[in-house]
Amino acid sequence: MHTRAALHRTTTIPATSRVPPTRRRLRRSEVVVCVLLGALLLLPLASWVLRPVRLNVGGVSCRVGRKATVATALSAAGIAPVGGDVRDLNGALLHPNGGLPPRVFGDGRPLVLAAAVAGHDVLTVAPAADVREPVRERTELLPAPDLSGYVPPGVAGTQRLQVGLLSGKALLDTVAAVPTVTATPEAKPRRALALTFDDGPWPTSTGQILDVLAQHGAHATFFVLGSLARGRPDVIRRTVANGNEIGIHTWGHANLTHLSSGAIISDLGRCRSTLESLTDEKVRVMRPPYGAINARARSAIGQTGLRVVMWTADTNDWRRPGADVIYSRIMNGASPGAIILCHDGGGSRTGTVAAVRRAVPALQARGYELLTVSQLLGLQPRPEGGAIILADGRTFTAKALSPTVSLVIDSERATLPEPPLELEGQLMLPVRPVLDSLRLKWVWSQQAHTLTVSGPFEQLVLRLNSLQVETGPGLTEELPVPPILYRNALMVPLWAVMRVAQARGQYDAATHTLRLVSFNQDLQTVAEGNVAPAEWGKGLKWQEYLGGQ
Ligand code: ZN
Repeated sequence: MHTRAALHRTTTIPATSRVPPTRRRLRRSEVVVCVLLGALLLLPLASWVLRPVRLNVGGVSCRVGRKATVATALSAAGIAPVGGDVRDLNGALLHPNGGLPPRVFGDGRPLVLAAAVAGHDVLTVAPAADVREPVRERTELLPAPDLSGYVPPGVAGTQRLQVGLLSGKALLDTVAAVPTVTATPEAKPRRALALTFDDGPWPTSTGQILDVLAQHGAHATFFVLGSLARGRPDVIRRTVANGNEIGIHTWGHANLTHLSSGAIISDLGRCRSTLESLTDEKVRVMRPPYGAINARARSAIGQTGLRVVMWTADTNDWRRPGADVIYSRIMNGASPGAIILCHDGGGSRTGTVAAVRRAVPALQARGYELLTVSQLLGLQPRPEGGAIILADGRTFTAKALSPTVSLVIDSERATLPEPPLELEGQLMLPVRPVLDSLRLKWVWSQQAHTLTVSGPFEQLVLRLNSLQVETGPGLTEELPVPPILYRNALMVPLWAVMRVAQARGQYDAATHTLRLVSFNQDLQTVAEGNVAPAEWGKGLKWQEYLGGQ
């Protein structure tokens, strides 16, 4: 047909055209022979020129035309030019065919789909591949324990998460707990109380009580008269050297309600300078003689910074009821957090000494640790560097961190009045200057013992030694551990700080550094440094996205 049509075209001559006379003489049969001969000669040449080439495409042998492109070669080899899938960080399918397409190389060089295959015998094909969604690492503090009462161990620390930028799913990577001093499990319940002795130091009885305490590894607090202490510096020094505490009981057993504010301040100051000149220990506590105190005296004592310590059980041993009665009053007064009143001075105390000799081992056998009042109230560390805190009827043990944790807030290294410590697995931070550095407004009420902290979104009212925290008008939640006074710093749980500040935290276990990023700083970081997930798809490839991180 083709040949005939061509013949027809060449031989059909319009009648109106002028044709040279020689051409008219050619016969139709002659023309056919000429064309056939020509075709016979040209066809092998054309088929030789246009013959398909044999090509190895990704290990598959196939034939393609000389002008074929990489795309047609892939098609000839049965390789679809579609990509693998995009999968989330858990491997679930996110976008079919959104992954890497097959990539083709000729002589080791990458070829685009439209490139010609001419000049290559072998095309190497990297098959289509799935890709995992881009992820971003996020380090955060371990979540606060659930408030039902279960506190997981090692809760003070951080966890690193991988967060999928497409799926938003998070995958736990690693957990780094803040290292703490190892605590040997205690078989006995942790209970503590404080024995206190007034009116000394006294010639024989004080030394006998110190012997009993030292023999059993127990400690007590002695509220001494300044006038007597001045005459027995050796007893005062021994008392402190054994790990006991010295408190003030006025210079000469004065009834403070009969004294002016100035006289009270002067009396306590005289006692304090005398006692502090005898030992290196700071005096923190005082007990008014007769337990007599009124608002004026309380206010005057408050100005000296001394803490008033009364008692929870009175043995009335000064009436000399006999060792058995004193012993049973001590034992009956024992409870966690109890402060028991005895006397080592003011007269013969043989009954008290005999009672204490029996009571100290008996209390220890019941699981009580005998501490000084400052240790009991958390004003002073225990010998091993911790403190026992009583809050809402429960006992909490604070421990020093070893090594200590340093704090960096918004790239500034914080100078802390007390290093962070651990309270039942929670990291405790001193209020000042942590809240200041996080740019939070806070008010401490000395009367109500409350700390009110205002953050970007909420206000918390924390109460000293209480698990109850007000999170709004009429709303309360329970804290895992209470805010405490430790030495002279008010310490609050880290997670309460993080929550109210809306801060971000990161703990570097290698340098023992806790970094906190305040809410304001965090906003800036997000705006300047990070690309928000919403930017994905706005012409930014995920590789570029990751490369820019
Ligand atoms: Zn007294």
